[in-house]
Amino acid sequence: MKLLDLKKLNTKRLNALSKSGIESIGDLLHFLPRRYLDRTTVLPIRNLKGQGEEVTVVGRIKKIQEAGYGHKKRLEVILQDDTASMKGVWFKGVHYFKRAFKEGEIYAFFGKAKRYGKYVSMAHPDTDKVGDKNDLQDLTRIMPVYPSNKAFSKSYITSKLINQWQRTILNTHQPPEFIPTHILKEQNLPERKEAYRMVHFPESQKEYKKARERFKFEELFLFELSVAKMKHTIIEKQNGHLFTEMGEYTTTFFNEIIPFELTDGQKEALADIKKDVRAGQQMNRLIQGDVGSGKTVVAIGAILMALDNGYQAAFMAPTEILAEQHYRTLTEFLDPLDINVRLLVGNQKAGLRTDILTDVEGGNCEVVVGTHAVIQDEVTFNNLGLAVIDEQHRFGVKQRAEILEKGSHPHVLVMSATPIPRSLAMTLYSDLDISIIKGLPAGRKPVKTAVRRDTNRQDIYGFMKSELADGGQAYVVYPLVEESEAMDLKDATAGFENLKSQFPNYNVGLLHGRLKSEEKDDVMQQFISNEIQILVSTTVIEVGVDVPNANIMIIEHAERFGLSQLHQLRGRIGRGSRQSYCVLMQGQKISKEGRYRLQTMAKTNDGFEIAEADLKLRGPGDFLGTKQSGLPDFEVADIVEDEGILERAKSAAWKLMDHDPNLQEDDHQELRKVFTPYFKEKARFYGMG
Ligand code: ADP
Ligand code: MG
Repeated sequence: MKLLDLKKLNTKRLNALSKSGIESIGDLLHFLPRRYLDRTTVLPIRNLKGQGEEVTVVGRIKKIQEAGYGHKKRLEVILQDDTASMKGVWFKGVHYFKRAFKEGEIYAFFGKAKRYGKYVSMAHPDTDKVGDKNDLQDLTRIMPVYPSNKAFSKSYITSKLINQWQRTILNTHQPPEFIPTHILKEQNLPERKEAYRMVHFPESQKEYKKARERFKFEELFLFELSVAKMKHTIIEKQNGHLFTEMGEYTTTFFNEIIPFELTDGQKEALADIKKDVRAGQQMNRLIQGDVGSGKTVVAIGAILMALDNGYQAAFMAPTEILAEQHYRTLTEFLDPLDINVRLLVGNQKAGLRTDILTDVEGGNCEVVVGTHAVIQDEVTFNNLGLAVIDEQHRFGVKQRAEILEKGSHPHVLVMSATPIPRSLAMTLYSDLDISIIKGLPAGRKPVKTAVRRDTNRQDIYGFMKSELADGGQAYVVYPLVEESEAMDLKDATAGFENLKSQFPNYNVGLLHGRLKSEEKDDVMQQFISNEIQILVSTTVIEVGVDVPNANIMIIEHAERFGLSQLHQLRGRIGRGSRQSYCVLMQGQKISKEGRYRLQTMAKTNDGFEIAEADLKLRGPGDFLGTKQSGLPDFEVADIVEDEGILERAKSAAWKLMDHDPNLQEDDHQELRKVFTPYFKEKARFYGMG
C-alpha cells in the first residue's frame, strides 16, 4: 500500500505530509498525537474560573473582531457554548488567524483561562476545528490531536482526516514488530500493532499512556543497544593491569604530603578506584563532583597507584591553562617523591618536544600532563597504566576511545564538574562506572552573588578596593563569543586599560586565548604569586583554574553566558578561607531567559540545581552539545522525565547484547533489520564506521 492509495490523499496533501517527514504508510502510522481532547477535560464556559487553569472548551465562533491600534493590534474571537461565551486573543499573526476562523464554525480551544473584566480569555490558545455537530459526539471518546502546520491547514489536513487514514492503515497493514517477544513480555508492553491502535484510538487515558510508554521504550532500547554494541565491539572490557601494591608513593602522598584531611567523598572515590584497579579488568570510571570538590587530589592518588606498580600515567586537560596548572600542582606535590613529570602541549619548540617524547617512550618520564596533544599519534608510551581525563565534558566520546588505543588498554579515569542529572549521566556514560564526590572540603564559605548594572560600577569598584586592601584578589571576566573573537577581545582590552587607571595602586593583568602559551603561563604565575591582583580575562579561565586567594569575580555581560558556564566561572572563587563575592554585571539588553539565568545564579550555589535549570532551559541536546555527547534527539522519549523507562531499556539492551551480540537468533531477526542501519549511522558518528 502506498500513501496515495488512501482515500482523500491527493498530491497536494502528499506534499504537505512529505514536508513533515511522512513519506510512507509506516511514517504516517508513526505520526503520533500531540495531545488528546478528552471529554473529561472539556469544561462548559460558565464553569471557567479564569485563574490561569488549563482547560479545553468547545463552542461555536460567534464573532471575529480586531481591537487595538498599530503595534498593539490584536484579534479577538468570541466562542460561545450553551452556557456562556469567552474570548480567544491573538497578539501575533493577527492576519493569519483572522482568515483561519469563520463565524459559525465549531472549535475546541485549549489554553490558560484568565479573567479580564467581563470575559474569560485565552491568549494564543491551541485550536482544533471540530467540524460539524457529529464531531461533538466524538468528544465523548478521546480524540487525538496531531501536530499541525501551515502546509497541513492549507491542504485541509485535519486531525480527523489523519486519524481516518490511520484507521485504514491499521485495518490493512501489519507493522513489523522488532522488539523481541520475550522483552515485550518481560516489560509488560503492548505489541507494536496494538500499541498503534492504543495511541491513535485509545479507549482510555491508560491505553494511550501505555502505548506511549512502548514507543519511548522502543526508542531508548535502540539507543542503549547501540551503546552496548559499541562497547562490545570497540571499548570492550579488557583484562586490566593490576595495581596490587599500595607502595611508597601512595603512602607518603596521603600520609605526609597533602596538607589537609580528605573529605568523605574523596575517600569514597579513591576506594572505588582502588577496588577497580585490583579487579583484573580495565577500569572505566567517571568521578563527578561539583567545582571545588577536590577532584585533582583523587586523580593524583590514582596516578600514584599506577606509579607504585611500575606503570606510567597520563593526565589530560581540555585547555593549555588547565594543563599547565595541573603540571604545577603535580610537580609541587610530587617533588619530594622524586617523580619525573612532564608537560606536553601544542606549540612547544621542536627540540623540547622531541626530548619529552623520547623521555615518555623510554619510560624515564613517569607522568605526562597535557592537552589532547597527549593522544596524538607520535606519542608512544613505554607502559601506560592509567589515563586521567579532566573535565571530561569538554572531550568527545571519540577522544576517550582514542586514549584507550594508547598502550595496552590503560585504566581510564574521567573527571567532570558538570553535575548532570543521573538519568543523563547514565545515558551518556553507559559504559562508565560513576563515583560522585558529594560535598566540598570543610571551611569553605559559600560565594555571595549579586546582580548589578553599569550604574553601580563605582560602588563595585569601591568595594573591590577595600577587598584588595585586605589582601584579596579579583577576576574580571569578559565573554568571548567565537564568531566575533576580535571584537570581544577589544572589550577585554578596553576593560583592562580602564581598570589600570581605576586601580593605580594595584597590578592588573590580561589573559586571553590569543596569547602564546608562555605568555599565558607567565600571567597566571603572576596571579598565583599575587604579583597581579586583578586578572582581566576572557573565558579561558572558565575551567578548573585554582587560585585560592582570589575572592572576587566580576562577570561583564553576564547575561551572555549560559548557566553552566557561569557556575564554572564562579567556581574559580570561594576556594580559600576568604569570603568570596561574585558580581554579575547585567547589560542593557537582557532577555527574559537571561534574567532567569542571573536570578538562578544569585539564588543558589548548588551545581546540581543549576545544571537542572540549565537543562530545562536548553534541552539535553544543547546542554551537552549533542554532537559532542553522542546523544540523539529522541522523538517520543524525554531522557530526563523518562528516567525509569531509560533504566529498563538499558538493562534489557545490555542483557540482550551479552546473550546474542550479533542478533543471530530467530527471535531477533526483525530487530537486526532495524538495528543494523541505526548502528551504522551511530558508528560513523564516532568515526568508527
Ligand atoms: P575541582 O574538583 O574543581 O577540580 P580542585 O581539585 O581544583 O577542585 O580542588 C580545589 C581546591 O581545594 C584546591 O586548592 C585543593 O588543594 C583544595 N582541596 C582539595 N581537597 C581538599 C580537602 N579535602 N580539604 C581542603 N582543601 C582541599
Ligand atoms: Mg578540576
